[in-house]
Amino acid sequence: MVCDRCRVEIDAGEEREIHGRLVCEDCYMDLLSPTRNCDP
Ligand SMILES: [Zn+2]
Repeated sequence: MVCDRCRVEIDAGEEREIHGRLVCEDCYMDLLSPTRNCDP
């Protein structure tokens, strides 16, 4: 399985789902975080 955001390999059972996307835990935390540089 590959992260939908950063394309890193994710071990089975380590993937996280957020906003309908399967991502790695790092991206999951990133997407959960309200502090994002690119937001207007
Ligand atoms: Zn990722």
